This record gives sequence, C-alpha cells and structure tokens, in this order.
Amino acid sequence: MRDTPTGIDEADDHNAATLGKFSRRRFLAQTSCFGAFYALARLIPLPALAEAVGVDSRVSREPVVDKGFASVHKVGNGLYATISDPTKGTSTLCNGGFIVGRDGALMIEGFTTPAGASFQMDALRMVSQAPVQAALDTHYHFDHSMGNAFYGAQGVPLWAHATAAKRIVESYTPLQGADKAAILEPFEKRVKDAKSQAEREHAQGDLNAMTGVFQLANSAMLALPNHPLDPAKLPTTIDLGGVSAVFEAYPGHSGTDIIVHVPEQNVVYTGDLLFSGWYPVCFDQQATVSGWRATLAKFAAFDKDTLFVPGHGQICGQEGIASIREVFDDIAAQAEKMYKAGVPAEEAQHRYVVPDKFKNFPVFAWGFTIGPAITKLYAEWRGK
Ligand SMILES: [Zn+2]
Repeated sequence: MRDTPTGIDEADDHNAATLGKFSRRRFLAQTSCFGAFYALARLIPLPALAEAVGVDSRVSREPVVDKGFASVHKVGNGLYATISDPTKGTSTLCNGGFIVGRDGALMIEGFTTPAGASFQMDALRMVSQAPVQAALDTHYHFDHSMGNAFYGAQGVPLWAHATAAKRIVESYTPLQGADKAAILEPFEKRVKDAKSQAEREHAQGDLNAMTGVFQLANSAMLALPNHPLDPAKLPTTIDLGGVSAVFEAYPGHSGTDIIVHVPEQNVVYTGDLLFSGWYPVCFDQQATVSGWRATLAKFAAFDKDTLFVPGHGQICGQEGIASIREVFDDIAAQAEKMYKAGVPAEEAQHRYVVPDKFKNFPVFAWGFTIGPAITKLYAEWRGK
C-alpha cells in the first residue's frame, strides 16, 4: 500500500502501536488488503461536520481525536460519535461511538478492523477510565463486525441481535480460504455480458465491492458476539451510571438491526438504518424496503431535536431522516412507473436515474444499493 495517501499509513502506525499482541504476519495481512475498497472509498466524500449539523450546540467543534480515517466528537453528556471518513483510510469504514457514565462505558460497533475498534477504545480512554461494560454490533455486516476480535482480546462482552453471530458465520466464513477467481467469476461475467454502458459500470462497481469484501473476509479473524439480544425482548435499557442507553430493534437494513437510543438527551445511534447523505445499502437478503421506510417514519416521529449518529455519512438532525426518506420515495416513484409500464425488474434496476438533487449522494456499488431496492420493490408489488 505504499502508493496510497497518508490515511492508510497513519492507520498502519496506529495498528502497529496498539496491536502488538497480534502476529506481525496477521498485521500485514490485515493492513495490506484494502486496494479495491480504497478505490471505492475514495469516491465517497464526507461532508464537513459544521455544514452537516449547523449550529447544534451538543456537537463539539473540536474533535476529541482525529486520525483522518475517523474522528471522535462529543455529541452530548457522556455521548461520543465516531465518524469515519473513508476517503482517508479504511480502518473503521462505518461510524460508531461510545457512551460513558459514572460506572461504565458502552462501545458501539466492531468496525472493519481490530485497529478501528482499538482506535475508538483509545478515544474513550482520552476522556474516561470507566470500565467497558459492553460493546454492541448494531448489525452483522462486515464493516461493523470484522474488528470484533479486538473486543474478544480485551474480554469485553459483545452484544448484538440474536441472529447476528449466525449471519456473520454464514456470510463470511464461506469466503475464507475460498477460490477468489471462482467467487468473483459471476461478477466478472456480468461486466463482460453487460448490455449497456450503465449496466457495465454498475457491474464493475459490484465487482470492486465484492473483491473488497472477499479480501477483508480473508484477512479478518472473525469474532462473534457472545451476548445475543432477542428482539422480542427489546427495548432493554443499560444503565451506565447517570446515563442510560436503550437498545431497540427495527426492520429494514439487515434483519439484525439494533439502535442505541438515549432518550433523555434525544440522541440516537442508528447503525445502518440511517445512511446520512448516501444512497441506502439494500442488498441484504433480509433488507426490506417497506420495513425500512416504516422504520424511518418512526425515526421521523422522534423528538424534533433528535441528533442522529448514522451508520455512514455525517451526523444529522431530523433533516437527515427527511432526506433519506425522499431518496426512498424517489426510487419507489421511478420503479413504480417502470413496473406499471411492464419494464422487467432485471432491466428496471439499471434504468433508475439519480436526480440532480441527490447527485452528491454516494452510491456504494449499484448492485448493493439502488438495484436491490428496485428488485425488492417489484417483489413487494408482485406479492400484493
Ligand atoms: Zn450494513
């Protein structure tokens, strides 16, 4: 990775300094594999914090720490948000945060690498020595869970939706040690067989994303949540001493989504149920567009002063919820026109046009976002 910008090198230094207990060989495997992802990530600009949150006095202007690939901001009393900037490195990729009370702390997200989780732990230690009571994966996806080994090594109980561990195993172990060419072959075939320029670009983006996931899965030591949260028994409250966090389950993004709600301060860590200023990632077999839109309607009904720490993108207020709802409305409106005109789903998924209004919204690979949103909508309409 000698030719990559400084964010990665800084991440490497951080890695080396904090993860000495892991083998050198693994460290190299961990940190030298992000080529394809990095190429994708550079297309994903992060809006400046000030412009994103306006004048919300709860958000500190000065970060607690800023490593380029992620920075940590105070967003409330004992509440901190970790905001990733994928253009500057891929140690964390997703957002997260931590909550600190008198008696303990809760860490949110396992991130993409143990170095990412370790970075967030270092940030916690800059503001508090409270023992870490628990960590939470908001859902099972790789960018939120492949750094879980860090928590394992620290003896921190790791909480997640009851099916998250199973989904990590089912989704990522088949990639480990697998024949890369065989895994990527169907994606390469789609690039070759594309019937239009748009289709070719979409297929190429999907191939890049899949290459990144393959490389990550093969360099990660998967570590599983050991404290399953049964969604039927949620909400549940975790008392950290003067600050309480409520875990709530909602449908939409992955079938394993849990948010952390701090109602007393109107702050919510949404995981990937909110992509702030991004097209939503809908590829998961358990993603449901109608379920997700219903969840967003519930978020819109939270207090008008709610501050949202999204899974990706910048911290936002209710305007961020309004904007992702508009994105879903636009996808649904364009898809419905095509559905009524008899355009087959396979074709419709490539025909969506990003309107001017959303032209700055990153699309993390078409086949992970807009494509499946449209095919899922078609399936819902057909099922009616
Ligand atoms: Zn996700």
